[in-house]
Amino acid sequence: MKPGRVIILDLFGTILSDVSNKYEKGIDWLCREILTVGTEYAAAKRVAEEYFRANMQNRTTTHKEASLQKQLEMFRERIGFRDNFPLSEIEYGFFKASRVTAIESGLMELLSYLKEKDFSVFVMSNTIFSAETVKRLLDAHGIGQYFNGVYTSGDCGHRKPGNKFFSYVYKRIREKVAVKRDEVIFVGNSLEKDVLGAKRFRFNPIWLSADKCGFGEELADCARVENLLECKDYLERNFLSVAGISKHYSVSDGEGNRIVVYLQGCDLKCRGCHNQSTWNEFGGRIMSVRRLVEDVLLRLARAARNVTISGGEPLTQPKALQTLLTEFGRAGVDVCLYTGREFEDVSDEVKSKIHYLKTGRFVHTEKTTTKGYYGSANQKFFAKGANGEWLKKDI
Ligand code: SF4
Repeated sequence: MKPGRVIILDLFGTILSDVSNKYEKGIDWLCREILTVGTEYAAAKRVAEEYFRANMQNRTTTHKEASLQKQLEMFRERIGFRDNFPLSEIEYGFFKASRVTAIESGLMELLSYLKEKDFSVFVMSNTIFSAETVKRLLDAHGIGQYFNGVYTSGDCGHRKPGNKFFSYVYKRIREKVAVKRDEVIFVGNSLEKDVLGAKRFRFNPIWLSADKCGFGEELADCARVENLLECKDYLERNFLSVAGISKHYSVSDGEGNRIVVYLQGCDLKCRGCHNQSTWNEFGGRIMSVRRLVEDVLLRLARAARNVTISGGEPLTQPKALQTLLTEFGRAGVDVCLYTGREFEDVSDEVKSKIHYLKTGRFVHTEKTTTKGYYGSANQKFFAKGANGEWLKKDI
């Protein structure tokens, strides 16, 4: 199983919006097309209501779901079908008769970005419809190819925010991608069902909410974006590909004792690099900056709050690196940055947030084992002076 980046999107209100949703139109369609000829609307409605009372009435408290296909079976038993139609076809017909949907704005940009960044994208929806119907619906909207899997409460029998549905989905995702629970990003528009459910399950929620009044913010205590375009921006700024974090202090990665964060991805590809496993930008684990900082702070002793950010090449993730440096600054961490680029290539914004800087590619013909911190003699080490000036140090 290959490790990968995983994002789950809620369906209605996140991927698709309802232009209209009229269950009665579905019943009407059943009477006209599927149920025994001459079935009256009132008779079909009675069966639907009986099914609802028996199976769906308390679903917001029990978090249990009933599927439309089971309901159709009840129609078949009580009233009968005029032909031997497959249930999956009736279900899709029912959907088309009862609902009209449109894709949410910003969705195509977000999906293209996720594809470009090699995310595995899944759908998790509270709906009586099966995954098969949802897949057909996504295909009909021309976006089916962007998704690696679709999971519905109708198939599972349980709904968000209950743990059982999250567990059902996570288990199936793990059959496709090796991903830790807290690396899974979940985007949804419902505070209770999506955000709080995902949080309890220890996914990383992003709350899609255009409501600017701030209601629920404290409760959610997670990222909040107004639309899917902002969601893309949030991902870029707040999630990093991480190759690893040292378990113990290192004395050879900058001044003093330092915990080392190895970021994933390097476009420099120096000949003789002994860290080639960090080259692939999609190879590491995806972590929220917040989670990474929490993890690092737990490893830091009070007397040595020093971190070196190395790679890979940390500057290949510029937006998230900025966020990381800001968070380390807030936590009073002394930061050393290792880059294969030159001093001039590092932005002033980055320089303003760090204390030490090592620059320069690894040049195998200048390889050294005697100069501290350096892989090759051409590299340079700088320290920030008391007035913010950068001083080159001879190591
Ligand atoms: S910059 Fe560092 S990680 Fe990247 S190729 Fe050169 S030595 Fe390897």
